Amino acid sequence: MSKFLVNKYQSLEPYTPGEQPRERKYLKLNTNESPFPPSEKAIALAAKEAERLMLYSDPECKELSAKMAETLGVSAENVIMTNGSDEVLNFAFMAYCDESTPAIFPDITYGFYKVFAALNAVPYKEIPLLADFSMPLADLLSARGTLFIANPNAPSGILLPLSEIEKIVAADPARIVVVDEAYIDFGGESAVSLIAEYDNLLVTGTFSKSRSMAGARLGFGVASAALIADLHRIRYSTNPYNVNRMTAAAGIGALSDKEYFEENCKKIIEARAYLARELSALGFSMTDSKANFLFVRHERMSGEAVYGALRERGVLVRHFGAPRIKDYNRITVGSMAEMEQLVEVMKEILEETK
Ligand code: PMP
Repeated sequence: MSKFLVNKYQSLEPYTPGEQPRERKYLKLNTNESPFPPSEKAIALAAKEAERLMLYSDPECKELSAKMAETLGVSAENVIMTNGSDEVLNFAFMAYCDESTPAIFPDITYGFYKVFAALNAVPYKEIPLLADFSMPLADLLSARGTLFIANPNAPSGILLPLSEIEKIVAADPARIVVVDEAYIDFGGESAVSLIAEYDNLLVTGTFSKSRSMAGARLGFGVASAALIADLHRIRYSTNPYNVNRMTAAAGIGALSDKEYFEENCKKIIEARAYLARELSALGFSMTDSKANFLFVRHERMSGEAVYGALRERGVLVRHFGAPRIKDYNRITVGSMAEMEQLVEVMKEILEETK
């Protein structure tokens, strides 16, 4: 830190992204990326668009927003496209949290919420999840502030049914509820269908997981036209060209390849069931994840030991040090072949550490 950094950022603790190692070829199961390449349509449109990179991108992101709206069954005025869903989440902290409206989120959830709160100097309150990592519904219904709920939650993968999300949104029309659906395509029902009825609901989504575009940085928000206008106000005040030309083109390609998207989601769901079965047989227990990862603990080995042993053998998973979850690892569900490889490595480890 330099001596010039202003006071307000000196104590900021930045988000720690999962490792992106270069020194060695790992089986990379630590950041919930897709094992499948982007749709060929996405690749072709992005390549073509590269020819126009001397021009700024469309600040209205018109074509992509229209395609996104059509895909979701809403109007373009209900959609904002952003640089990853992290950006729309940050916009929501800026737009809907302040001294008198704290951010509210579970104690175990996406680590960036805390960072966004700190960055924007807004107070936050963490609601403890129950012992089995399920959501304390009564506490969520009564909490006052702007609620952030990842659904499925991370890193547990536990899904709240749409009916419960609706109860939370309906409980207090004076409160904004942000439902972060980064992982919804792997087995959940989206809350987008509720936005026509509830003007206090913002749903966010991403192309990083189910659409194999983490490196393109493309996310979106869906809400009433009024909320979306708030978010555009902030976007135009920070970076009007937040979605670059190649990414916007790739996004259109990805959305026009529904079959490929659905096929890949199905493959992940199948690989998840396979991995859950195999790891259970090896002495792991886990939450009921509806995301593209499993959250697992071993009956005999500590979370850190599992992480270290896998890493030594070239497999990267995500271990979090927070006390409540230190016994666990979050393992991204990849292709069937990758999952088979992981299971083999895990068998070796358990054999060696008997
Ligand atoms: N929400 C959750 C729950 C996540 O795990 C992630 C991925 N790290 C994001 C949002 C943000 O993803 P992206 O910015 O790549 O869309």
